[in-house]
Amino acid sequence: MRLLVVEDEIKTGDYSRQGLAEAGFQVSLVRNGLDGHHLAMTESFDLIVLDVMLPDVDGWRIVQSLREAGRQTPVLFLSARDSVDDRVKGLELGADDYLVKPFAFAELLARVRTLLRRGSASPLSDQLRVADLVLDLPGHRVTRAGRKINLSHKEFCLLELLVRRQGEVLPRSLIASQVWDMNFDSDTNVIDVAIRRLRAKIDDDFETRLIHTVRGMGYKLNVEAEDDGD
Ligand code: CA
Repeated sequence: MRLLVVEDEIKTGDYSRQGLAEAGFQVSLVRNGLDGHHLAMTESFDLIVLDVMLPDVDGWRIVQSLREAGRQTPVLFLSARDSVDDRVKGLELGADDYLVKPFAFAELLARVRTLLRRGSASPLSDQLRVADLVLDLPGHRVTRAGRKINLSHKEFCLLELLVRRQGEVLPRSLIASQVWDMNFDSDTNVIDVAIRRLRAKIDDDFETRLIHTVRGMGYKLNVEAEDDGD
């Protein structure tokens, strides 16, 4: 599950990101409204934790743009403001829930889980499937052709990313930022190693290979056979 956290307060942002990541979510953290607005509008998240008072573009504007664009991503507002008016305004603009700062992390986690459950009422959204590969998102379980495959947390996140963006070539830098939260110029060897491990588990015992190397560019997951020479 991918979460976007938009929070300019350093401590609250770091604390939320760390806690949510430890709870098993893939978390992207941005610290201003402009970046938050951009990511919320261009990438797909399962939920957005959104501070109201932000530099550049405030949380209200972000949720308003999202809803106007027809994006139904659940939004949990975070705010120091606790007046009823603000709460009502947030909910009217299309936020799904509201948490007043300061908050206990356990409460944030509980609200996030509740919203995600509500958002994924359709059983389909709990699973991702490609060919005979099935990812059970809430349970972090993977099977291929009915056979259970044990993955580490990072391997699962990596596979989830590849599956969600199947057919797209994902550069190492993108994989690094999405799965490891590392910068662009970090050593990307860790990604090659992780891909190799993931392949050994997902592809080695099966006829159809799913994970492909695109030379000089990155990796992609695809059902069609490709002659990528490795
Ligand atoms: Ca703020």
